[in-house]
Amino acid sequence: MSEYIIHILYVISSALFVLSLLWMKSPKSARRGVFAGELGMLLAVVGTLLSHHVVTYDLIAIAFLVGAVAGVPMAYLMPMTAVPQRTAISHAFGALAAALIGTAEFYAKQPTGFVMVALVLEMLLGYLTFTGSLMAFGKLQGILPTRPIVYKGQNFVNLSVFVLAVAMGVAMVVDPTQQWLLPVFAGLSLLFGVMLIVPIGGADMPTVIALLNSYAGLSACAMGFAMGNQLLIIAGALDGSSGFILSIIMCRAMNRSFTNVLFGGFGQLKVKVGHAEQKPVRSANAEEAASILEAARLVLVVPGYGLAVAQAQHKLRELYDQLTKRGVDVQFAIHPVAGRMPGHMNVLLAEADIPYDKLHEMDDINGEFPQADVALVVGANDVTNPAARHDESSPIYGMPILDVDKARTVMVIKRSMNPGFAGIDNELYYMDRTLMLFGDAKSFLTNIVKELSSNNNR
Ligand code: NDP
Repeated sequence: MSEYIIHILYVISSALFVLSLLWMKSPKSARRGVFAGELGMLLAVVGTLLSHHVVTYDLIAIAFLVGAVAGVPMAYLMPMTAVPQRTAISHAFGALAAALIGTAEFYAKQPTGFVMVALVLEMLLGYLTFTGSLMAFGKLQGILPTRPIVYKGQNFVNLSVFVLAVAMGVAMVVDPTQQWLLPVFAGLSLLFGVMLIVPIGGADMPTVIALLNSYAGLSACAMGFAMGNQLLIIAGALDGSSGFILSIIMCRAMNRSFTNVLFGGFGQLKVKVGHAEQKPVRSANAEEAASILEAARLVLVVPGYGLAVAQAQHKLRELYDQLTKRGVDVQFAIHPVAGRMPGHMNVLLAEADIPYDKLHEMDDINGEFPQADVALVVGANDVTNPAARHDESSPIYGMPILDVDKARTVMVIKRSMNPGFAGIDNELYYMDRTLMLFGDAKSFLTNIVKELSSNNNR
């Protein structure tokens, strides 16, 4: 009877996982997607706990408590801007769990044939994802140097370690009684995870994290085959394929090839911006900015990473309210890699209840910039840099950008002339039509809103 219930629970949770991914496609349904994913996971856990394979619940309860004590504060205390590294550390633990289960299965059961192949795959992907994700976490958190470390013959050395690990895995499949092979195999896999991340710069880490997510999923999928658990196969395959597709989407949005991300050492050569401050720029204060915005017919807002850092989304909402009250058409232009994770801007703007129909993806809104009276850039930089269109020497050359420079007036809120993620100067700031609004995004927007409200009361 309990087997029957478990199967039903697994089928429902598989369906919920698929629906979850489907609903995450749009900001409108994303919350429902998250809820479906959570419910699916809860049912999967309940189903697994009902299994007759569970010998004792005591250890599970302890593990649950330890996980909750670490996980709950992490979820609440880590800021939104740290989500990429939080995701990396979660993958590290997930992958380690898969690898350790594989190791235990190997020593306890010494499986053969197909099950052993699945176990080897599970452990290889699990161990390398564990150290790779820890390295990615370290780089993003600033614990490790973010610049890529590249040396001659590196790809050859990395490939050799990988081939050796695979050879050990094959040897284990051929003769599972040779138990000494496993520590060597695990050590090589762990080492490969480190070496894989060493040549990748901090700038590419979020893309790599999506890829590591995919590896962790594939490891779980292999574990499903090894343990005969269909739900693990489905969930792992969904995780593996969606993580892989996401990393491809991110590469495309940055106009980078997959091989360039993994082996390119991007971020090594940073363009010097030492002279940037000396070139003349035009700046304006909140009062001037408010009067330009008030007189506009169409304002296109371009949010970026600085909006998230300043947590200025609610102030942006107030500005939106003030302007729409005056009959100004305000729309939001979202670049696919604005911020530090896919969908970062959508999440922020949704949090401030900015209507979804005002958010437009890059390809849909780019044609509107020439008609816009004002392009208001809030904490975005690289995604607006016209050098991406024409400067072949620029590290972001070829990355599709928002055509902000085509608007009649461009206003940029940022604190200084410092570069963004790619570490390069932005020629947008030196255009005659550009006004720099220097300051923290939240305080500058607060001042503009104050000006507009006081104009209102006059
Ligand atoms: P950028 O990192 O290019 O620029 C952000 C700007 O925000 C900085 O120039 C900074 O200038 C400004 N800023 C920081 N804090 C504040 C603040 N408190 N108030 C006002 N401004 C602030 O961000 P974009 O969103 O334009 O571009 C994202 C970059 O990240 C791209 O290069 C993209 O390739 C990369 N990336 C994105 C991923 C994703 O999935 N979204 C994944 C991988 C990489 P200042 O210091 O002067 O204030």
